[in-house]
Amino acid sequence: MTDEHATPQTPTPGNANPDEGATAAEPTVAPGPEAAERHAAADLPHTPDDQGSEEAVRRKKRDIPLVAVVTGTGKGKSTSSFGMLQRAWARGYRSGVFQFVKGGKWKVGERKAAEALHASGAGGTIEWEIQGKGWTWIQRDMTESEDIAKAGWDEVKRRIAEERYEFLLLDEITYPISWGWIDVEDVVATLQGRPGFQHVVLTGRNAHERLIEVADLVSEVQNVKHPMQAGIRAQQGIDW
Ligand code: ATP
Ligand code: MG
Repeated sequence: MTDEHATPQTPTPGNANPDEGATAAEPTVAPGPEAAERHAAADLPHTPDDQGSEEAVRRKKRDIPLVAVVTGTGKGKSTSSFGMLQRAWARGYRSGVFQFVKGGKWKVGERKAAEALHASGAGGTIEWEIQGKGWTWIQRDMTESEDIAKAGWDEVKRRIAEERYEFLLLDEITYPISWGWIDVEDVVATLQGRPGFQHVVLTGRNAHERLIEVADLVSEVQNVKHPMQAGIRAQQGIDW
């Protein structure tokens, strides 16, 4: 393999096999009364004919801020969440993306698309933050991955507190949580206490069961077949 796209991002430190040891936690907890109350307070559900909010940031009464988790061993977690990002953009939402796995030149496709959408001015706004040197607010040089991930999470908390976005995507955040770099209870408290109207989507394998408990929407993507199992490397237009 000769180019930087030949191997996908490794989802665990030093583990290049994305399938290894991957089992998503079982979604065991039913939505609580709190969720039912929030939904009862909403008016009509969305319908296929619904055109959505026409003006940036204005929301209808039925719009309820959700926490969504996309987990599992199959391909499609990040790409599905980028699909939601596009919908949020189309509704005029201010959107933020934090990628918690070091980017480099990998996965440039979705970012390029998001930048074009943002620049078009035809919908909402998209701010894109990449772990490592891409965390632009970090003043000092950080060499430890753990410190870098923590700095990213601290910034996420600040932005949630200031209600900077209507749609926030925390891509691959399950990994630094699994490694104990980001405290899952801090994430849970931040999500549950978030003010105003903020959809938050979290992706990555092995989502912690606490995330699954507090989320309103949990999807688990199963791996049925992946070209990598047949020795076919990552493909542009599909994987990045
Ligand atoms: P994508 O970004 O394509 O939606 P994903 O977010 O579901 O993928 P990740 O675990 O983040 O999955 O892996 C990202 C890369 O690893 C992608 O290039 C993807 O094709 C590849 N990949 C995902 N699932 C598998 C799998 N089961 N076997 C091998 N490679 C995989
Ligand atoms: Mg992913």
